Amino acid sequence: MTRPADVAAARRLVLDHVSQPRSELVDLTKAGGRALATDVLASHAMPPFASSAMDGYAALPTLAGVPLRVIGESRAGHPFAGELHDGEAIAISTGALAPDGVGVVPVEFATLDDGVVTPAGPVSVGDHVRLPGEDLPMGAVALSAGTVLGPAELSVTAACGLAAGCCTVRPRVAIVVTGDELADLGSPLALGQIHESNGIGLRGLAEQSGAEVVSKARCADTREATAKALGDALDGAEIVIASGGVSVGEHDHVRAVLTEDLNAKEVFWRVPLKPGGPTWFGVGPDGQLIFGLPGNPASAFVTYTLFVAPAIRALLGQTPLPDPWPAATAEDLPLRNREQAVRVTLEPRPDGPPLAHTTGAQGSHRTTSMSGAWGLALLPAGDGLLPTGSIVQVEPLPH
Ligand code: AMP
Ligand code: MG
Repeated sequence: MTRPADVAAARRLVLDHVSQPRSELVDLTKAGGRALATDVLASHAMPPFASSAMDGYAALPTLAGVPLRVIGESRAGHPFAGELHDGEAIAISTGALAPDGVGVVPVEFATLDDGVVTPAGPVSVGDHVRLPGEDLPMGAVALSAGTVLGPAELSVTAACGLAAGCCTVRPRVAIVVTGDELADLGSPLALGQIHESNGIGLRGLAEQSGAEVVSKARCADTREATAKALGDALDGAEIVIASGGVSVGEHDHVRAVLTEDLNAKEVFWRVPLKPGGPTWFGVGPDGQLIFGLPGNPASAFVTYTLFVAPAIRALLGQTPLPDPWPAATAEDLPLRNREQAVRVTLEPRPDGPPLAHTTGAQGSHRTTSMSGAWGLALLPAGDGLLPTGSIVQVEPLPH
């Protein structure tokens, strides 16, 4: 069994076991939120032809005040088919094809009288004309692989002439929460019970990461129930996230079940980290990535963010680790003999790095320590206090 020296070493072990992203074509109407597996290239110049940026009149270059006979029209989608000569103009609308060599006089700067238009100012070649390829030349990279298709990126892809995106396949995630003490959402609590809250949180995190959550099961703290739930989870998913039952207690069965009953290989157990010390990671018989996260809610959120999210990002073809933000601590923070992942909000400042405020008490059982958090400030192991104003690296939570 490997016990990683620190968070970075544990993450390397996780990423060492992530397979290459797979890709599939996804209709653009269904591709929102998906990550691109390949670059999107402009299949034609954008815009594809010279067009008017204004409603007005197109004419060859001329001086101000020269009357021009209006001989036709170029409308959006209906180009002018004839030829334009000196002393002539055509009416033109925004987005309509602009003939070679013209400039456009906006309606507001022209007077029309009996089929003759007079521009108030001179007309020069290219006035109010958008050139082909001005946005992107043909063949240019419009979006690079790994980009997540939000509304703007879907628009760019459509404008590039594509009806589908080559996207990475969303990994299927199965969630298993363990614990005899867990009561269903909204049900009354018997003495000694708590409401099961990790399942819905982990589902949301996995979906925010871009994965597809295919199942969520709850099991009792028996070896049989744990084996059944984890066995089913392994059947239909590339990633299994278990919560609870991974520590050293007599009723913690997750490790033994995985390695002894389900043929999984342990990669590491226990990371010198607070919260999240008991985290387990292994690989299933078909290469599934299996994360045994501690049951305490803050530990589950933190270890998801530090270990599961990078694996999903890598499987989606994205850079596994988001760039951390340097921030200055807003309060003295006690150091421990292991790294700490402190949940923080960031307050922007005009004259320096943002201020990192903790979300309040950081006990691993405190569900509220996650709510409102912008990211995790990773504090190094040490002793004494990390004084106010120290620079820490803050990793954004999935959002
Ligand atoms: P465990 O990791 O199983 O030892 O659980 C550690 C702590 O987390 C205990 O106080 C559990 O009651 C709590 N816990 C475990 N699973 C969940 C869950 N799904 N939702 C909320 N709390 C949990
Ligand atoms: Mg438990």
